[in-house]
Amino acid sequence: MIESDVSLKKFNTFGIDVSSRLFSQAENEDHVRNVIQSNAFKTNTSLILGGGSNLLFTKNFDGIVLRNNIHGIEVIEDTKEHVLVKVGGGVVWHDFVLYCIKKGWHGVENLSLIPGNVGASPMQNIGAYGVEIKEVFYELEAIHLKTGEIHYFNNSACKFGYRESIFKNKLKGQYLISRVIYKLSKRANFNISYGAIEKQLETMGIKELSAKSISDAVIAIRQSKLPDPKKIGNSGSFFKNPVVTKSSYDIIRSNFPDVVAYPVGKDLIKLAAGWLIEKAGWKGKTFGNYGVHKNQALVLVNYGGASGREIYDLSEEILDSIKEKFGVQLEREVNIY
Ligand code: FAD
Ligand code: NAP
Repeated sequence: MIESDVSLKKFNTFGIDVSSRLFSQAENEDHVRNVIQSNAFKTNTSLILGGGSNLLFTKNFDGIVLRNNIHGIEVIEDTKEHVLVKVGGGVVWHDFVLYCIKKGWHGVENLSLIPGNVGASPMQNIGAYGVEIKEVFYELEAIHLKTGEIHYFNNSACKFGYRESIFKNKLKGQYLISRVIYKLSKRANFNISYGAIEKQLETMGIKELSAKSISDAVIAIRQSKLPDPKKIGNSGSFFKNPVVTKSSYDIIRSNFPDVVAYPVGKDLIKLAAGWLIEKAGWKGKTFGNYGVHKNQALVLVNYGGASGREIYDLSEEILDSIKEKFGVQLEREVNIY
């Protein structure tokens, strides 16, 4: 059940060639409990792994990786208005989105084609095109890694924020999220005002809105802009969009009138980190076999054979340069191991 010296190359979308000293893939809750009660787990550093699309390995993992491969999709409540659907943490997120669209359930269409698995979706409250999973999240089941008990977290207990949750902060490394329950609506409530969706629908000649047409538009935009991890290693946006005070924003705007920014509450402004990085001259820069993507400066890429350390060091340089040029401290979104 626990293997030794397993390559993690195919288990991380950056395609970093490292290995884990110990490794197990859990197909169900009993499997998780058996592993976490083992001496190997109790005496080693551990890492819970999903699809490996939001992390960067900077070295071999000297401990035990436990990959969540729990499957299953089960409707647990079905009314005229909504469904509650319980989904195994190992289900691929985009497969779940397509399943919802096929069933006529609304709420996740804007989140099409986000890589990774259902179990990680609450970790950073995944979001895209003006929608975050907290809007459709009902409850999750998580196995406490010390006791093996299942604990339940409702929406407010997860303390969702912008690409944040309690599992990325206070409870980091304490749980394996085994199943997630989403509440999806049977009524349409489309959100197409964000980013390029409206324009893309027009280009595609789509007049009648549906979850499927919005999903198709989002997929088309993403495919045209973002590197496909199957072809070029990456973990999506490497940095979060920083939120600054209105007065800091005013100073930046006086020096850079074209800065891309959105208000996010009283006196708080979200800056597009991709714009800051591009303006600092990093977009498309290549250093041998790694660099900054040519279409989206937020995405660092491994063209093949780069080490995680090289990519991490590049991210350090970018952090320093943005601080120096704009006085803004960016934060990494990707989890570093
Ligand atoms: P992993 O990378 O395996 O893990 C991420 C973190 O969660 C790790 O710290 C891990 O320990 C922990 N973890 C994983 N599963 C569990 C579990 N079951 N229980 C407890 N802890 C767990 N993200 C967005 O929010 N929006 C986007 O639009 C978006 N676009 C992307 C585009 C590309 C091309 C790529 C490569 C990534 C993108 N991402 C995006 C980032 C990523 O897809 C998401 O964060 C995704 O939810 C990560 O899922 P995963 O299963 O791959 O997690
Ligand atoms: P984009 O549409 O070019 O927009 C650039 C930035 O501006 C985005 O980061 C987005 O913030 C923000 N933005 C755009 N329209 C906005 C609006 N109406 N109100 C508030 N903020 C707005 O971005 P993109 O790179 O092509 O990505 C499109 C969407 O996919 C974004 O939501 C992005 O977060 C998501 N995405 C995420 C990842 C990841 O790894 N996390 C990777 C690729 C794409 P937000 O990021 O806050 O939405």
